Amino acid sequence: MRLAEIIELRPVPAAGLLATLTRRCPLSCAHCSTSSGPRGEDTPAGALRRFVGTFTSADRPDVLMLTGGEPLLRPALVDDLAVLAAPAGTRTSVLSGMFFAADGRVPARIMRALQHVAHFSASIDVFHEREVPRAAAFRAVHRIMESGIDVSFHVVGNSVDDPYLADITAAIRAEFRDRAAVLVNHIRPAGRAASWAAARKAPPEDAGRSGPAEGRPAPCAMAAWPVVAFDGAVAACCNQRVVDARPMPEHLRLGHIAVDDWPLIRRRCQESPVLRTIRTAGAGACADCRSLARRPAALDAAQRAGSRPAAGAMDALGARLQRDAGAAVLLRRYGSERYAPLVQLGGRGDGEDPA
Ligand code: SF4
Ligand code: SF4
Repeated sequence: MRLAEIIELRPVPAAGLLATLTRRCPLSCAHCSTSSGPRGEDTPAGALRRFVGTFTSADRPDVLMLTGGEPLLRPALVDDLAVLAAPAGTRTSVLSGMFFAADGRVPARIMRALQHVAHFSASIDVFHEREVPRAAAFRAVHRIMESGIDVSFHVVGNSVDDPYLADITAAIRAEFRDRAAVLVNHIRPAGRAASWAAARKAPPEDAGRSGPAEGRPAPCAMAAWPVVAFDGAVAACCNQRVVDARPMPEHLRLGHIAVDDWPLIRRRCQESPVLRTIRTAGAGACADCRSLARRPAALDAAQRAGSRPAAGAMDALGARLQRDAGAAVLLRRYGSERYAPLVQLGGRGDGEDPA
C-alpha cells in the first residue's frame, strides 16, 4: 500500500483508524509531540485486540495506522492487530522511529511484526539521525522493502528553506531510486512535531490548515479519522492536545475501545453534527474548536449547521473532492508545500512530476 493511497483517504470520515500502542520510545527526540521517552503508558492490549476484532468486511476502516511512542516496542501486538484486521479487509501501516536499526539490521522480532503489514513509514530528521545514523536507517529500510512492504519516510525540518530538507530528500530519492515516498513537514513555531498522518504528531496547532483566511474558519480534514489514545479513549481528531486532554472535549470524544465497537465509533465519527460542521466549514483555530464546549452558543450553532438535511451529503462530497484531488494537493495544505509531490513516489505515481 503506497503512502499516497493512505493520505488520499485521510479526509474521508472513518476511512482510517489511528491507534497509539504506547507512549514509550527508546529515543528522546527534542521535537517529540508526545513527549515520548523510555517510560510511559502502554495502551491496553486486550482492549485494542477486542476493538480491532469488531471490524467486519462490511464495516471497517480501510487503514489501521499503528503509532506511538514507538509501536514496534510491542512487536507481537503489532502483528496481532495486523492479523486481526486483515480478514475484514483493513490494511495496516506502521510508523516507526527506527530505534532498532542503529547497526543497519532489522531484528527477527521486528521482521515478524511486519509480516502482515502493508506499509512501513520511517521517521527521519536531524534528531533521529543523532540516535540512528542515516546509513543504518537506510540499510534497515532496504531490508524491509525487500520483504515486499511499501515504505516511506516521514521527514521533519525547521522550515521550507532548511538545507537539511533538501539534503535528506535528495539522499532518499537517490538511495531508493524513487521507490520510497517522502512526506515532509516543518516544525512549527508552536514547537510541536509535525507528521501529517500520525496521531503522535498531530497537526501542530493549526499548522497546515489553509485558513482561517480573511478571518474565516477553514474546514478541518483532520477530524475524519478516529484516534485511539494511550488509555483507550477515542478522539475525533489527531490534535495532540485533544488526544491528551482528560476529560477530552465532549464534542471531540468518540468513545472508548474497551466498551465501544468499531461500527459505533464509525457512526459517531461520520454522523456527529458538530464534526460534520468542523469538516465542512471549520470551527476556527484548533484552540477555538477545542473550546467549543465552553461556548454553548457556538457549539449550538455548529450542532444546528451539521444537523441540516444536506449536511451529510455536503460532508461526503467534501471528502470525495479532497480524495479525488489526490495526496499531493492535500499535503500542500497539511504538509510542506514545496515537497508535497514527493508523496507520489513509490509505486506507479499519478503522472505528477515530483519536485
Ligand atoms: S519523535 Fe518519534 S522516535 Fe522521537 S521520541 Fe518521539 S516517538 Fe520516539
Ligand atoms: S482541534 Fe478541531 S480544528 Fe483542530 S485538528 Fe482537531 S478537529 Fe480539527
